[in-house]
Amino acid sequence: MILIDGKKAAADLREDLKKEVAELKTKYNKVPNLTVILIGDMAPSQIYVRNKEKSAIEVGLKSEVIRYPNSVQEKVVLEKIKELNQDDSVSGILVQLPLPKHIDKQKVIETIDPSKDVDGFHPMNVGNLSSGYESSVPCTPLGCYLLIKKIEPNLSGKKAVVVGRSNLNGKPMTQLLLKENCTVTITHSRTKDLKAECLEADIIVAAVGIPELVKGDWVKEGTIVIDVGINKTDKGIVGDVDFDQVSKVAKALTPVPGGVGPMTIACLLKNTIDCFKRSQK
Ligand code: NAP
Repeated sequence: MILIDGKKAAADLREDLKKEVAELKTKYNKVPNLTVILIGDMAPSQIYVRNKEKSAIEVGLKSEVIRYPNSVQEKVVLEKIKELNQDDSVSGILVQLPLPKHIDKQKVIETIDPSKDVDGFHPMNVGNLSSGYESSVPCTPLGCYLLIKKIEPNLSGKKAVVVGRSNLNGKPMTQLLLKENCTVTITHSRTKDLKAECLEADIIVAAVGIPELVKGDWVKEGTIVIDVGINKTDKGIVGDVDFDQVSKVAKALTPVPGGVGPMTIACLLKNTIDCFKRSQK
């Protein structure tokens, strides 16, 4: 069984991005700039944003964090986004989620200029992805996709089962696999026989949020299994896949932690660079 090393894959991707940023600097005499808006003082968001900033600087990007207190008015945030949209020195804008209850998440997402939407959440990018056009792609499914392609460069005709249909993970994952000519089944909480669906798959991507949902006898031999789940349990952080059982049958499997997680921030950096490159065309 191939244990898919997400830390190594992310480090390799960051190394490639660092070289690309150096080339862009020589060519355009400037580097891509990622601007993050962080609202409130929730510890996980603070940690994510600090990690994003650190990684961005490591690959040579400019990175700025704009902080607001939890009480900030929605209109202040929307005005700031509009200002950043107009600012040619800003290549990518990310508003760290979740937001305080009084701020409308969808309004925030839709105010970001789609060409600077490094999270790929704007309806324009969602539509472009599902139409097969160039777009920003949400970072976690993009990371999963890159890991799958490392194991199996030619996905054409493979049967893929995506477990979970969130806008963040399951739906964009489905589009990426479709683009690669997989035959994709997207499953969710109302799917009648999830085990039977999974047993058909050459590739399984589990993004559910239920600890160890996908069992060893749900997976046929030779399947590539990508575990997006991050679940806190008494025995620590576990994924949506029963690692001990599935590792006995899968061809390749991502561990949790150390699989998909590290790719997410690396893909954010990739998206920022891609937004910059498109803006220079
Ligand atoms: P979400 O928005 O809660 O969506 C969960 C999906 O799972 C829904 O589509 C739901 O179906 C489906 N589901 C629930 N119970 C099910 C069941 N018994 N059988 C089949 N499908 C079922 O979750 P998410 O935001 O996509 O996150 C999923 C997991 O990934 C979480 O553990 C989260 O922490 C993790 N995550 C990891 C990363 C990373 O960087 N590795 C990033 C983001 C999220 P319905 O639509 O029918 O309700």
